[in-house]
Amino acid sequence: MKSGWVDSEAQAAIDRYAAQGIGRDLAARVYTTRLLGRDPKLVLHGGGNTSVKTIVPDLLGEEVAVLCVKGSGADMAVIEPAGLPAVRLDRLAQAARPHRTHRRGHGARSARNLLEPAAPNPSVETLLHAFLPHKFVDHTHANAILSLVDQPDGEAICADLYDGRMSVVPYVMPGFALAKMAADVYDAKPDVEGLILHKHGIFTFGDSARDAYERMIALVTLAEGRLQRNRTAVFVTAQLPQAIAPLTVVAPILRGACSRKDAKIEGAWRRLILDFRTGPDIMNFVGGADIARYSQAGW
Ligand code: ZN
Repeated sequence: MKSGWVDSEAQAAIDRYAAQGIGRDLAARVYTTRLLGRDPKLVLHGGGNTSVKTIVPDLLGEEVAVLCVKGSGADMAVIEPAGLPAVRLDRLAQAARPHRTHRRGHGARSARNLLEPAAPNPSVETLLHAFLPHKFVDHTHANAILSLVDQPDGEAICADLYDGRMSVVPYVMPGFALAKMAADVYDAKPDVEGLILHKHGIFTFGDSARDAYERMIALVTLAEGRLQRNRTAVFVTAQLPQAIAPLTVVAPILRGACSRKDAKIEGAWRRLILDFRTGPDIMNFVGGADIARYSQAGW
């Protein structure tokens, strides 16, 4: 997995948003959120979330410390600053690290302390973003991370792979309990680059948008490498005949097999026009001994 960060593009985003009155922090936040969102191996539509802690003027013009955190359901690939509603950080801090009070409703109520009442609801993981001290926090459900943590010994695999660079948070449903659990895990080793959430995903953080983003790329890349290393050959190629029938022989047979009786005209058939495509990936797929099983998927 390669970093998509380009200095000139980051600066262009900051300049473009500055012209709209958007601060540098939020502009940089939008830039790397989009970088994360455009890679389906990191983020599928609507999933994942990011945040930045910054200072903005409230409706009365007073400067307040806020957490701008991605709203629920927003698509990170095309997010705009309005997709990261500002929540007052002081209220969130009370809820997320409530001298560890266990009042469940407290966090949810505070999460609605939006600066702009019409803004979209912040992510359910808002509290987790809030308690982390870092300015920029990135969260994804990256494929490679899920592939590791969904294994029976996923926690042990991650502990071995990240060798102290990441802490592992046991599985808890997203919400107040997860935020509190993650806070405890983070407090125990505050020099980590991120958190692995068992059966859930990954958090990375940093003091700049670039740091948090580059850590996400580097740490997910490590997970990808680990998966490659452990890959066993489960794909068996079928025994293929020496000479494969030419397309001119096969195509009419396929066309006949795919034709359907026309329900409206007695005795007529509806026939398709076929488009022949091939390539290494397609040959790999159709040459598998197990094609009858996996070609069912998606039908
Ligand atoms: Zn999540």
